[in-house]
Amino acid sequence: MDSDLLCSKCGGGMIRGFIFDRGDYNFKQQQVWVEGEPESSFWSGLKTSGRDARTVDAYRCTGCSRLEFFAGGTTEI
Ligand SMILES: [Zn+2]
Repeated sequence: MDSDLLCSKCGGGMIRGFIFDRGDYNFKQQQVWVEGEPESSFWSGLKTSGRDARTVDAYRCTGCSRLEFFAGGTTEI
């Protein structure tokens, strides 16, 4: 999917994409930006409750292959 963004390094066109992780049972999911410093949790690995969480949208430059990341919409984690 093409976007109206231009690469901040070379001015080339940017194609929208995303970064994915594999969760439980090899389930594919999009990475999420979480507000604040990481804090360990015995039960879940990291504490995330009550924090602002957004999808990570990634754009790839068609000229120099630079990746740029932007916070997308809010999401539940
Ligand atoms: Zn570029």
